[in-house]
Amino acid sequence: MPIYAYRCSQCGFEKDVLQKMSDAPLTTCPECNTDNFSKQLTAAGFQLKGSGWYQTDFKGGSAAAKPKVDNPPPCQGGTGTCPSCN
Ligand SMILES: [Zn+2]
Repeated sequence: MPIYAYRCSQCGFEKDVLQKMSDAPLTTCPECNTDNFSKQLTAAGFQLKGSGWYQTDFKGGSAAAKPKVDNPPPCQGGTGTCPSCN
């Protein structure tokens, strides 16, 4: 179940909300009770999950100052953690 980052543009209240994809988005701020509560695109939950972490790592890894990753550990085969095997 994805986590959505919500923010109130009225009072600045922020909250991560665990919601089903089918759930209607929240609009009412629990702090000030206005309808300025809205879903943010940069959801904290996506970074915590790990799938997005690999993508950003691959994209920026070669351009930016990267740590030594020239010798990755040998593939363990079947563990599902090797990027080359997936
Ligand atoms: Zn508010």
